[in-house]
Amino acid sequence: MEHPENECQYEGLTVNKGIEQPPSINPYLKHTHRRKLYTAGEYVEGIIKGDVSMLSQAVTLVESNLYEHRSLAQEVIEKCLPHTCKSVRIGITGVPGAGKSTSIDVFGLHVLRNPGNKLAVLAIDPSSERSKGSILGDKTRMEKLAVHPSAFIRPSPSAGSLGGVARKTRETIVLCEAAGYNNIFVETVGVGQSETAVHSMVDFFLLIQLAGTGDELQGIKRGIMEMADGIVINKADGNNIERAKLAQAQFRNALHLFPLPPSGWTPKVLTYSGYYEIGIDEIWQMINDYLDFVHKNGYFEHRRQEQAKYWMYETIDEQLRNNFYNNPIIKEMLEEKEERILGNTQTSFTAAHDVLEYYFRHKEQQKPPTQG
Ligand code: GDP
Repeated sequence: MEHPENECQYEGLTVNKGIEQPPSINPYLKHTHRRKLYTAGEYVEGIIKGDVSMLSQAVTLVESNLYEHRSLAQEVIEKCLPHTCKSVRIGITGVPGAGKSTSIDVFGLHVLRNPGNKLAVLAIDPSSERSKGSILGDKTRMEKLAVHPSAFIRPSPSAGSLGGVARKTRETIVLCEAAGYNNIFVETVGVGQSETAVHSMVDFFLLIQLAGTGDELQGIKRGIMEMADGIVINKADGNNIERAKLAQAQFRNALHLFPLPPSGWTPKVLTYSGYYEIGIDEIWQMINDYLDFVHKNGYFEHRRQEQAKYWMYETIDEQLRNNFYNNPIIKEMLEEKEERILGNTQTSFTAAHDVLEYYFRHKEQQKPPTQG
């Protein structure tokens, strides 16, 4: 008997049969498998057909930090390269609150007015690793684009160094272009070094500024202004119009102090209102004028070639660093050397020398045997 307390000698005491405990794992979930990996050929075929689900999964693969995903991701990217469409890549930066998402929503719809156009919105947000979730490129911030069938919105890759995050976005561009997205927006927060990374993957770099804060020129780093091909002052609406015009004049004056950029194009300063959709045509006219200008003088192609080289060196740098710092013996050596440096028993330079020498010697031994 399951409960001896129920026997007649214990009159007045009954213990009911307990209810069966539910399993700790939802039985229905047992049957759902992890999303399967396709072959490189399958990914590429889907992407070229413009299959958005396949594109998203391939981007996830590119963003993956798992070692076994890396070579598959690279194969997919290489196979996509010959299929990339002619595109325009625009970088958009501005401090939080400048109106990036509002503006991208409006700019995006402007671009998509042409039925032949498709738009991908990507983002580089190096802080997203810390906040465990990216704020940029979030669909909820771009309400109209989010439901547009020709728009593909992807938040920032969220793990790794700025270089790593940016490289993944750079690779995602290739996939999007193979899927026929002929307009690419890359968004970033205008507060750190991520602008340099964005600048190195776009054809036009747009800086969104605000007027009326009283410190128009102080808040932005000179370097960011120097990179901009166009500066646009947002929120030129209501009683802010005058202040926006004033800021426009100040930015124009400030730009005169900079040398002419290598494109030969003098950056323009415009005012607009993303919220009230005022001045959007003019911004697009400016971007098209720029593109005509650099297509004619050959700078467009030159810039893309320089960027391709830049990314090769960036990738080499990143991988060398990773290979070095993730080596377990090197990690141990570095810890020991740190102690020695702090204990004044070795200098920084000889410590670095020792570790590097060990690393290079070790690499030498790993060389594959030469053929023949
Ligand atoms: P982000 O952080 O740069 O993406 O900025 P958001 O697009 O989220 O905009 C920040 C705030 O500014 C929001 O409350 C917007 O409604 C507001 N905003 C954006 N564009 C305009 C504009 O053109 N005019 C006015 N008055 N407000 C705007």
